[in-house]
Amino acid sequence: MTIKLICLDADDTLWHNMRYFNEAFSAFQNLLKPFADVDVSLAALNVCEDRNRHIHGYGAKGLTLSMIEAALNLSGDGFSRSMVEQILAVGRSLLSHPVELLDQIDQTLMKLEDRGQLVLVTKGDLLHQETKLAASGLGDLFTGVEIVSNKTSRTFSDVFTKYGVEPQECVMAGDSMRSDILPALDAGAFAAFIPQADAWFHEHADAPPQNSRYIELSSLSELVDWIDQINEVGTQASVTV
Ligand SMILES: [Mg+2]
Repeated sequence: MTIKLICLDADDTLWHNMRYFNEAFSAFQNLLKPFADVDVSLAALNVCEDRNRHIHGYGAKGLTLSMIEAALNLSGDGFSRSMVEQILAVGRSLLSHPVELLDQIDQTLMKLEDRGQLVLVTKGDLLHQETKLAASGLGDLFTGVEIVSNKTSRTFSDVFTKYGVEPQECVMAGDSMRSDILPALDAGAFAAFIPQADAWFHEHADAPPQNSRYIELSSLSELVDWIDQINEVGTQASVTV
């Protein structure tokens, strides 16, 4: 068996994302300073987002609604039209920031494209993710784009079936242990964890136990060599058989 399908996360795997969300969190905390300490306002926002995620999904629009709700709860009678305007401005800037690729992404994707079909697997707001992909200039390198409401092992199994490959012919690479790595491993694929400095606590999970289908890499460019190693082992195994 060799790798035929290379699934890639988008946010903080291909382009920067969390740094903009962290800026939004800071703006929210500053706005609420007259009513709450920064730790209190951030905790209230997190609670609100967790509570709303099943109806809002992931992404900037859901966060904007949760910021308004959390601000209303924290400020009580002090809530004002100006606060709504400022929160909407924070949300708009989250939806319209320029797409900033991580280092060497385009060169790396061209090498990966020689090794298998590339499929983008990302969650979040459909229109926002499509807009970012278009702005990235990377769209033509991908065979497929799967924008999903959540990433579970079923999500990955469905993707593998859709592209007509066995799980052991697939690799998933991303920065989230919880959303990219554990469900892809669970679905039977290889998984490469590429942690980033700006991580969202919600995406944290413990690393899997020792597993030959799992690796931690310091950048996406290292995925090229890992795929070559997987393919070499796969080729040797089939020769032995
Ligand atoms: Mg990500």
